[in-house]
Amino acid sequence: MDDKAGLYLEHIRKLLRDNKIPELGEDLEEIPLLCQIHEELKTIRQVMLSFSAGDFSPAITVRGIIPGCLKALQAHLRHLIWQVQMVEKGDFTQEVRFMGEFSEAFNRMVSQLNTTLTALRQKEEALVITNNMLRNEVAHHSSAMEALQESEARLQFLASHDSLTGVLNRRSFIELAKSELQNAAIRSIPCCLSMMDIDHFKRFNDTYGHLAGDETLRHVVHTVSQGLRKGDFLGRYGGEEFVFFFYNADKTTGAGVVERLRKNLAETPVALENGPVSVYASFGIAESFMEDPGNDDYVQKLINDADTALYAAKRAGRNRVMLYHVEQAAEFAGQIPTVHDVTAEAEE
Ligand code: GH3
Ligand code: MG
Ligand code: MG
Repeated sequence: MDDKAGLYLEHIRKLLRDNKIPELGEDLEEIPLLCQIHEELKTIRQVMLSFSAGDFSPAITVRGIIPGCLKALQAHLRHLIWQVQMVEKGDFTQEVRFMGEFSEAFNRMVSQLNTTLTALRQKEEALVITNNMLRNEVAHHSSAMEALQESEARLQFLASHDSLTGVLNRRSFIELAKSELQNAAIRSIPCCLSMMDIDHFKRFNDTYGHLAGDETLRHVVHTVSQGLRKGDFLGRYGGEEFVFFFYNADKTTGAGVVERLRKNLAETPVALENGPVSVYASFGIAESFMEDPGNDDYVQKLINDADTALYAAKRAGRNRVMLYHVEQAAEFAGQIPTVHDVTAEAEE
Protein backbone atom coordinates (compact mmCIF):
# COMPACT_ATOMS: atom_id res chain seq x y z
CA MET A 1 0.00 0.00 0.00
CA ASP A 2 1.43 3.35 -1.03
CA ASP A 3 1.68 6.33 1.32
CA LYS A 4 -1.34 8.11 -0.14
CA ALA A 5 -3.63 5.13 0.36
CA GLY A 6 -2.40 4.99 3.97
CA LEU A 7 -3.32 8.69 4.38
CA TYR A 8 -6.85 8.11 2.96
CA LEU A 9 -7.49 5.19 5.29
CA GLU A 10 -6.07 7.11 8.27
CA HIS A 11 -8.48 9.99 7.47
CA ILE A 12 -11.49 7.61 7.29
CA ARG A 13 -10.40 5.93 10.55
CA LYS A 14 -10.28 9.38 12.26
CA LEU A 15 -13.68 10.22 10.83
CA LEU A 16 -15.05 7.03 12.35
CA ARG A 17 -13.31 7.24 15.73
CA ASP A 18 -12.27 10.80 16.69
CA ASN A 19 -14.50 13.12 18.69
CA LYS A 20 -13.55 16.00 16.43
CA ILE A 21 -14.08 15.87 12.64
CA PRO A 22 -10.64 15.80 11.01
CA GLU A 23 -9.71 18.38 8.37
CA LEU A 24 -9.27 17.03 4.82
CA GLY A 25 -6.23 19.16 4.09
CA GLU A 26 -5.09 20.34 0.70
CA ASP A 27 -3.75 16.95 -0.43
CA LEU A 28 -6.92 15.03 0.26
CA GLU A 29 -9.34 17.72 -0.98
CA GLU A 30 -8.20 16.90 -4.48
CA ILE A 31 -9.63 13.37 -4.33
CA PRO A 32 -13.39 13.61 -5.13
CA LEU A 33 -14.30 10.11 -3.87
CA LEU A 34 -12.63 10.76 -0.54
CA CYS A 35 -14.39 14.14 -0.28
CA GLN A 36 -17.74 12.36 -0.91
CA ILE A 37 -16.95 9.67 1.74
CA HIS A 38 -15.89 12.49 4.12
CA GLU A 39 -19.21 14.37 3.66
CA GLU A 40 -21.36 11.20 3.98
CA LEU A 41 -19.58 10.01 7.12
CA LYS A 42 -19.79 13.53 8.57
CA THR A 43 -23.59 13.58 8.05
CA ILE A 44 -23.98 10.08 9.51
CA ARG A 45 -21.90 11.13 12.55
CA GLN A 46 -24.09 14.19 13.16
CA VAL A 47 -27.31 12.19 12.85
CA MET A 48 -26.04 9.54 15.27
CA LEU A 49 -24.83 12.19 17.72
CA SER A 50 -28.32 13.80 17.67
CA PHE A 51 -29.97 10.38 18.17
CA SER A 52 -27.71 9.58 21.11
CA ALA A 53 -28.73 12.95 22.65
CA GLY A 54 -32.43 12.05 22.20
CA ASP A 55 -33.06 14.34 19.21
CA PHE A 56 -34.68 12.43 16.37
CA SER A 57 -35.44 15.45 14.22
CA PRO A 58 -32.36 15.91 11.94
CA ALA A 59 -32.96 15.37 8.23
CA ILE A 60 -30.92 12.47 6.74
CA THR A 61 -29.82 13.75 3.38
CA VAL A 62 -27.43 10.97 2.31
CA ARG A 63 -28.21 7.58 0.82
CA GLY A 64 -26.95 4.09 1.49
CA ILE A 65 -27.51 1.18 3.84
CA ILE A 66 -26.45 2.99 7.05
CA PRO A 67 -28.44 6.21 6.41
CA GLY A 68 -31.34 3.96 5.31
CA CYS A 69 -31.21 2.08 8.63
CA LEU A 70 -30.95 5.38 10.52
CA LYS A 71 -34.00 6.70 8.61
CA ALA A 72 -35.97 3.58 9.49
CA LEU A 73 -34.95 3.88 13.18
CA GLN A 74 -35.85 7.59 13.10
CA ALA A 75 -39.30 6.81 11.67
CA HIS A 76 -39.94 4.09 14.31
CA LEU A 77 -38.84 6.25 17.19
CA ARG A 78 -40.92 9.20 16.00
CA HIS A 79 -43.93 6.92 15.66
CA LEU A 80 -43.25 5.60 19.18
CA ILE A 81 -43.22 9.18 20.52
CA TRP A 82 -46.56 9.81 18.82
CA GLN A 83 -47.96 6.54 20.27
CA VAL A 84 -46.90 7.53 23.79
CA GLN A 85 -48.66 10.88 23.29
CA MET A 86 -51.79 9.04 22.16
CA VAL A 87 -51.66 6.80 25.26
CA GLU A 88 -51.28 9.93 27.37
CA LYS A 89 -54.55 11.18 25.80
CA GLY A 90 -56.26 7.93 26.79
CA ASP A 91 -55.95 5.84 23.60
CA PHE A 92 -55.05 2.43 24.97
CA THR A 93 -55.26 0.71 21.57
CA GLN A 94 -51.65 1.68 20.77
CA GLU A 95 -49.28 -1.27 20.29
CA VAL A 96 -45.57 -1.27 19.55
CA ARG A 97 -44.34 -4.06 17.26
CA PHE A 98 -40.79 -3.36 16.12
CA MET A 99 -38.79 -3.25 19.37
CA GLY A 100 -38.74 -6.81 20.68
CA GLU A 101 -38.70 -6.94 24.48
CA PHE A 102 -39.42 -3.22 24.74
CA SER A 103 -42.54 -3.69 22.60
CA GLU A 104 -43.80 -6.47 24.87
CA ALA A 105 -43.13 -4.46 28.05
CA PHE A 106 -44.68 -1.32 26.53
CA ASN A 107 -47.79 -3.18 25.34
CA ARG A 108 -48.21 -4.86 28.75
CA MET A 109 -47.84 -1.49 30.48
CA VAL A 110 -50.53 0.09 28.23
CA SER A 111 -52.87 -2.84 28.78
CA GLN A 112 -52.28 -2.67 32.56
CA LEU A 113 -52.93 1.08 32.50
CA ASN A 114 -56.16 0.43 30.63
CA THR A 115 -57.29 -2.19 33.19
CA THR A 116 -56.36 0.01 36.18
CA LEU A 117 -58.06 3.07 34.74
CA THR A 118 -61.22 1.13 33.90
CA ALA A 119 -61.31 -0.26 37.45
CA LEU A 120 -60.75 3.22 38.86
CA ARG A 121 -63.58 4.63 36.73
CA GLN A 122 -65.91 1.90 37.91
CA LYS A 123 -64.92 2.63 41.51
CA GLU A 124 -65.50 6.33 40.93
CA GLU A 125 -68.97 5.64 39.50
CA ALA A 126 -69.77 3.41 42.48
CA LEU A 127 -68.52 6.12 44.85
CA VAL A 128 -70.68 8.76 43.15
CA ILE A 129 -73.72 6.50 43.55
CA THR A 130 -72.85 5.80 47.22
CA ASN A 131 -72.26 9.49 47.81
CA ASN A 132 -75.67 10.39 46.38
CA MET A 133 -77.31 7.69 48.45
CA LEU A 134 -75.59 9.01 51.59
CA ARG A 135 -76.65 12.56 50.77
CA ASN A 136 -80.26 11.43 50.41
CA GLU A 137 -79.94 9.49 53.62
CA VAL A 138 -78.54 12.53 55.48
CA ALA A 139 -81.28 14.78 54.08
CA HIS A 140 -83.87 12.20 55.10
CA HIS A 141 -82.38 11.92 58.59
CA SER A 142 -82.21 15.69 59.08
CA SER A 143 -85.85 16.16 58.12
CA ALA A 144 -86.79 13.23 60.38
CA MET A 145 -84.75 14.90 63.13
CA GLU A 146 -86.51 18.22 62.56
CA ALA A 147 -89.90 16.51 62.67
CA LEU A 148 -88.85 14.76 65.88
CA GLN A 149 -87.70 18.02 67.46
CA GLU A 150 -90.94 19.69 66.39
CA SER A 151 -93.06 16.93 67.84
CA GLU A 152 -90.95 16.93 71.01
CA ALA A 153 -91.52 20.67 71.36
CA ARG A 154 -95.23 20.13 70.66
CA LEU A 155 -95.39 17.36 73.25
CA GLN A 156 -93.58 19.53 75.77
CA PHE A 157 -96.04 22.35 75.11
CA LEU A 158 -99.00 19.99 75.45
CA ALA A 159 -97.59 18.59 78.70
CA SER A 160 -97.12 22.03 80.24
CA HIS A 161 -100.13 23.92 78.88
CA ASP A 162 -103.89 23.73 79.19
CA SER A 163 -105.37 22.49 75.93
CA LEU A 164 -108.56 24.61 76.08
CA THR A 165 -107.09 28.02 76.83
CA GLY A 166 -103.39 27.60 75.95
CA VAL A 167 -102.13 28.99 79.28
CA LEU A 168 -99.83 27.07 81.67
CA ASN A 169 -101.37 24.13 83.49
CA ARG A 170 -101.34 23.98 87.29
CA ARG A 171 -98.09 21.98 87.61
CA SER A 172 -96.14 24.24 85.22
CA PHE A 173 -97.53 27.38 86.83
CA ILE A 174 -96.36 26.20 90.27
CA GLU A 175 -92.92 25.28 88.88
CA LEU A 176 -92.48 28.65 87.24
CA ALA A 177 -93.85 30.58 90.23
CA LYS A 178 -91.42 28.68 92.48
CA SER A 179 -88.41 29.66 90.38
CA GLU A 180 -89.60 33.27 90.03
CA LEU A 181 -90.03 33.52 93.81
CA GLN A 182 -86.51 32.18 94.35
CA ASN A 183 -85.23 34.76 91.91
CA ALA A 184 -87.18 37.54 93.59
CA ALA A 185 -86.09 36.49 97.10
CA ILE A 186 -82.39 36.78 96.11
CA ARG A 187 -82.99 40.31 94.80
CA SER A 188 -85.48 41.33 97.59
CA ILE A 189 -88.16 41.95 94.99
CA PRO A 190 -91.84 41.77 96.06
CA CYS A 191 -94.26 39.59 94.09
CA CYS A 192 -98.01 38.95 94.18
CA LEU A 193 -100.09 35.91 93.43
CA SER A 194 -103.75 36.15 92.51
CA MET A 195 -106.53 33.58 92.21
CA MET A 196 -109.48 34.26 89.87
CA ASP A 197 -112.77 32.35 89.79
CA ILE A 198 -115.49 33.07 87.25
CA ASP A 199 -118.76 34.09 88.91
CA HIS A 200 -121.80 31.81 88.62
CA PHE A 201 -120.17 29.82 85.89
CA LYS A 202 -122.33 26.80 86.54
CA ARG A 203 -125.39 28.94 85.85
CA PHE A 204 -123.60 30.34 82.78
CA ASN A 205 -123.12 26.79 81.42
CA ASP A 206 -126.68 25.88 82.26
CA THR A 207 -128.00 28.95 80.45
CA TYR A 208 -125.79 29.08 77.34
CA GLY A 209 -124.50 25.52 77.07
CA HIS A 210 -121.17 23.87 77.75
CA LEU A 211 -119.63 24.83 74.37
CA ALA A 212 -120.47 28.49 75.00
CA GLY A 213 -118.91 27.97 78.45
CA ASP A 214 -115.69 26.75 76.78
CA GLU A 215 -115.74 29.70 74.42
CA THR A 216 -116.19 31.99 77.45
CA LEU A 217 -113.19 30.46 79.22
CA ARG A 218 -111.06 31.29 76.17
CA HIS A 219 -112.55 34.80 76.06
CA VAL A 220 -111.76 35.38 79.75
CA VAL A 221 -108.14 34.23 79.32
CA HIS A 222 -107.72 36.37 76.22
CA THR A 223 -109.19 39.45 77.93
CA VAL A 224 -107.20 39.22 81.17
CA SER A 225 -103.96 38.35 79.32
CA GLN A 226 -104.07 41.69 77.56
CA GLY A 227 -103.69 43.50 80.87
CA LEU A 228 -100.53 41.60 81.87
CA ARG A 229 -97.08 43.15 81.90
CA LYS A 230 -94.00 41.40 80.53
CA GLY A 231 -92.78 38.94 83.16
CA ASP A 232 -96.27 38.30 84.59
CA PHE A 233 -98.03 35.05 83.72
CA LEU A 234 -101.13 33.05 84.41
CA GLY A 235 -102.12 29.41 84.59
CA ARG A 236 -105.31 27.39 84.74
CA TYR A 237 -105.59 26.10 88.27
CA GLY A 238 -108.63 23.91 87.47
CA GLY A 239 -112.15 24.28 86.05
CA GLU A 240 -112.93 28.00 85.88
CA GLU A 241 -110.21 29.00 88.31
CA PHE A 242 -107.01 30.71 87.16
CA VAL A 243 -103.88 31.87 88.99
CA PHE A 244 -101.72 34.89 88.17
CA PHE A 245 -98.15 35.68 89.12
CA PHE A 246 -97.04 39.32 89.22
CA TYR A 247 -93.27 39.79 89.38
CA ASN A 248 -91.91 42.90 91.06
CA ALA A 249 -95.29 43.98 92.40
CA ASP A 250 -96.00 44.77 96.06
CA LYS A 251 -99.54 44.42 97.39
CA THR A 252 -100.52 47.95 96.35
CA THR A 253 -99.30 47.50 92.79
CA GLY A 254 -100.72 43.95 92.62
CA ALA A 255 -104.11 45.11 93.89
CA GLY A 256 -104.14 47.91 91.30
CA VAL A 257 -103.29 45.57 88.41
CA VAL A 258 -105.85 42.95 89.44
CA GLU A 259 -108.60 45.54 89.97
CA ARG A 260 -107.90 46.77 86.42
CA LEU A 261 -108.11 43.19 85.08
CA ARG A 262 -111.44 42.67 86.86
CA LYS A 263 -112.88 45.93 85.53
CA ASN A 264 -111.69 45.22 82.00
CA LEU A 265 -113.26 41.76 82.06
CA ALA A 266 -116.55 43.09 83.47
CA GLU A 267 -116.67 45.67 80.68
CA THR A 268 -115.82 43.20 77.88
CA PRO A 269 -118.76 40.87 77.18
CA VAL A 270 -118.20 37.60 75.37
CA ALA A 271 -119.65 37.47 71.84
CA LEU A 272 -121.84 34.36 71.86
CA GLU A 273 -124.02 33.12 68.98
CA ASN A 274 -127.10 34.97 70.23
CA GLY A 275 -125.27 38.16 71.15
CA PRO A 276 -122.89 39.60 73.73
CA VAL A 277 -123.06 38.30 77.31
CA SER A 278 -121.32 39.90 80.29
CA VAL A 279 -118.99 37.70 82.27
CA TYR A 280 -117.63 38.49 85.72
CA ALA A 281 -115.02 37.05 88.00
CA SER A 282 -113.84 37.43 91.59
CA PHE A 283 -110.20 37.72 92.60
CA GLY A 284 -108.12 37.14 95.72
CA ILE A 285 -104.55 38.41 96.08
CA ALA A 286 -101.67 37.47 98.36
CA GLU A 287 -98.34 39.21 98.60
CA SER A 288 -95.08 37.28 98.97
CA PHE A 289 -92.71 38.28 101.73
CA MET A 290 -89.46 39.06 100.02
CA GLU A 291 -87.32 36.97 102.30
CA ASP A 292 -89.49 33.88 101.87
CA PRO A 293 -87.91 31.08 99.84
CA GLY A 294 -89.48 29.78 96.66
CA ASN A 295 -90.53 26.22 97.42
CA ASP A 296 -93.63 24.14 96.74
CA ASP A 297 -95.00 24.74 100.26
CA TYR A 298 -94.57 28.47 100.01
CA VAL A 299 -96.21 28.68 96.57
CA GLN A 300 -99.08 26.59 97.93
CA LYS A 301 -99.34 28.90 100.99
CA LEU A 302 -99.61 31.94 98.70
CA ILE A 303 -102.28 30.16 96.64
CA ASN A 304 -104.20 29.29 99.82
CA ASP A 305 -103.98 32.90 101.08
CA ALA A 306 -105.17 34.20 97.70
CA ASP A 307 -107.98 31.62 97.82
CA THR A 308 -109.00 32.82 101.29
CA ALA A 309 -109.27 36.36 99.90
CA LEU A 310 -111.16 35.01 96.86
CA TYR A 311 -113.65 33.28 99.13
CA ALA A 312 -114.19 36.60 100.92
CA ALA A 313 -114.74 38.28 97.53
CA LYS A 314 -117.42 35.72 96.69
CA ARG A 315 -119.13 36.26 100.03
CA ALA A 316 -118.97 40.01 99.58
CA GLY A 317 -121.10 39.73 96.44
CA ARG A 318 -118.66 38.59 93.64
CA ASN A 319 -117.16 40.64 90.78
CA ARG A 320 -114.64 42.06 93.20
CA VAL A 321 -111.01 41.94 94.30
CA MET A 322 -109.94 41.15 97.86
CA LEU A 323 -106.43 41.33 99.24
CA TYR A 324 -105.18 38.93 101.88
CA HIS A 325 -102.86 40.56 104.34
CA VAL A 326 -101.50 40.09 107.80
CA GLU A 327 -102.19 42.75 110.42
CA GLN A 328 -99.81 43.39 113.28
CA ALA A 329 -102.16 43.27 116.27
CA ALA A 330 -100.45 44.65 119.34
CA GLU A 331 -103.29 43.72 121.68
CA PHE A 332 -102.90 40.02 120.72
CA ALA A 333 -99.10 40.32 120.67
CA GLY A 334 -99.11 38.64 117.23
CA GLN A 335 -100.32 38.76 113.66
CA ILE A 336 -103.86 38.26 112.47
CA PRO A 337 -104.71 37.62 108.84
CA THR A 338 -107.40 39.79 107.37
CA VAL A 339 -108.81 40.68 103.96
CA HIS A 340 -109.09 44.04 102.37
CA ASP A 341 -111.76 45.07 99.81
CA VAL A 342 -109.75 46.49 96.91
CA THR A 343 -112.77 47.05 94.66
CA ALA A 344 -114.76 48.88 97.33
CA GLU A 345 -111.82 51.19 97.92
CA ALA A 346 -111.37 51.83 94.22
CA GLU A 347 -115.05 52.71 93.89
CA GLU A 348 -115.00 55.21 96.75
P1 GH3 B 1 -119.16 30.80 91.97
O1 GH3 B 1 -119.54 32.17 91.55
O2 GH3 B 1 -119.42 30.57 93.43
O3 GH3 B 1 -117.81 30.45 91.60
O4 GH3 B 1 -120.16 29.82 91.22
P2 GH3 B 1 -119.79 28.82 90.11
O5 GH3 B 1 -121.04 28.35 89.49
O6 GH3 B 1 -118.83 29.41 89.19
O7 GH3 B 1 -119.05 27.71 90.94
P3 GH3 B 1 -118.95 26.18 90.82
O8 GH3 B 1 -117.59 25.78 91.29
O9 GH3 B 1 -120.13 25.58 91.51
O10 GH3 B 1 -119.03 25.84 89.30
C1 GH3 B 1 -117.98 25.85 88.44
C2 GH3 B 1 -118.47 25.44 87.12
O11 GH3 B 1 -117.48 25.57 86.15
C3 GH3 B 1 -118.93 24.02 87.10
C4 GH3 B 1 -118.29 23.42 85.88
O12 GH3 B 1 -119.22 22.76 85.06
C5 GH3 B 1 -117.75 24.58 85.14
N1 GH3 B 1 -116.57 24.24 84.43
C6 GH3 B 1 -115.39 23.83 84.92
N2 GH3 B 1 -114.52 23.55 83.91
C7 GH3 B 1 -115.17 23.84 82.75
C8 GH3 B 1 -114.80 23.75 81.36
O13 GH3 B 1 -113.71 23.37 80.99
N3 GH3 B 1 -115.73 24.12 80.46
C9 GH3 B 1 -116.98 24.56 80.83
N4 GH3 B 1 -117.83 24.92 79.88
N5 GH3 B 1 -117.33 24.61 82.11
C10 GH3 B 1 -116.46 24.27 83.07
MG1 MG C 1 -114.78 27.41 91.17
MG1 MG D 1 -116.97 30.03 89.89
